Amino acid sequence: MNEQYINPIYDVIIVGAGPSGSAASKAISDKGHSVLLIEKKKLPRYKICSGIIFIKSLEITEKYFGTIPDAAFVSPPYLKGVRLWDSDGKSTDWPFKTDGKGAPNVWRSEYDNWLAQNSGAQIVDQCRAVGFKQSGDNLEVRCIRNNIPVNVKCRFLISAEGSSSTIRAKLDPEFENNLDKFFAYQNYYEGHCNLDPLYYHGFLDENFGDIYAWFNVKDNLLVFGTGIKVGNKITQYLEKFQLFLEEKHDMKLNKMVRKASCIGYNMCSTNRFYLGKDNILLVGESAGFLNMFGEGISSALSTGLLAGNAVCESFRTGKNAASSYNDAAQKEMKYTSTSWKLAERMAGRKVI
Ligand SMILES: Cc1cc2nc3c(=O)[nH]c(=O)nc-3n(C[C@H](O)[C@H](O)[C@H](O)COP(=O)(O)OP(=O)(O)OC[C@H]3O[C@@H](n4cnc5c(N)ncnc54)[C@H](O)[C@@H]3O)c2cc1C
Repeated sequence: MNEQYINPIYDVIIVGAGPSGSAASKAISDKGHSVLLIEKKKLPRYKICSGIIFIKSLEITEKYFGTIPDAAFVSPPYLKGVRLWDSDGKSTDWPFKTDGKGAPNVWRSEYDNWLAQNSGAQIVDQCRAVGFKQSGDNLEVRCIRNNIPVNVKCRFLISAEGSSSTIRAKLDPEFENNLDKFFAYQNYYEGHCNLDPLYYHGFLDENFGDIYAWFNVKDNLLVFGTGIKVGNKITQYLEKFQLFLEEKHDMKLNKMVRKASCIGYNMCSTNRFYLGKDNILLVGESAGFLNMFGEGISSALSTGLLAGNAVCESFRTGKNAASSYNDAAQKEMKYTSTSWKLAERMAGRKVI
């Protein structure tokens, strides 16, 4: 999309074409309001993720967007559950609650792009939001596209930027400075391993990571990684984990196909959600929604819808959108915080 087609003003600008941004856009555009969805990367974009669509995510996806297209599925297309391994090598299965098929196993690039294309928004990719300012009753959002600054106005701004949010940092630098960060890293290899590919495997041994380490299979690629507190060295954990998989689960690695990493924040486990102010709302991970052991698509979709509904209500009645979104999101916040307490009980230690 060329910037000459960008309108001077939109009802809503949403920053970030992940599930939270697309869900917010769907809720708003379905009510007839204009939405501009901007994404800094070229779509479809890679997202570090295990790509498991848990039952709540699946229900929301099917209700608002329809059936996930075949092109988004990987092999194996459905997973039976999570297999959690303790430090003594014992495993416990946590079957996915599904309609019997199992949980969809997808490439996030394809799933997210499909959501975005069906979100009713005008989409501009390779466009990074770098700031905003109040301009009369509107907001002016500063973006950079192809090294060219583009300013667009809107009545509401939604940050759906994922864990690192430019908008959150600009709205409240002090809040931002007091957050602890974690680091997630994963490798994709061609090779072989005797762990059951129909399960997502989580390893709670703290020698493999501060949070946990994981293994799963996507399109015959072995995907394994770990999460640590920022400040600790990833290699010391990852090397031990890799050696363990080689020795105990007969993992043999051939060619590395990809490595990926990201930064996350401990907002989710410390009950420090940041939902925005007045006409600026935050959804999904940028607001702090990430459930235990890193499941976050469900809360991204649900908070995107809640924020979208709050904006529509504000258009209709003049009610403060941030305050109605905050009320509506209480249940989701409680769910996220409680889930991390459960994770700590399962791991027998603090996880993030
Ligand atoms: C290793 C790992 C495995 C995971 N596995 C699972 C799983 O199996 N199932 C599950 O449910 N969850 C999983 N998650 C969590 C899940 O990936 C996230 O919670 C979810 O993607 C959050 O969605 P979101 O829409 O909030 O943000 P994102 O999906 O991160 O989307 C944010 C988008 O905003 C864009 N963006 C950011 N800043 C700007 C800017 N300034 N301007 C323009 N665009 C911008 C980004 O490029 C990105 O496309 C996993 C996470 C990790 C790290």
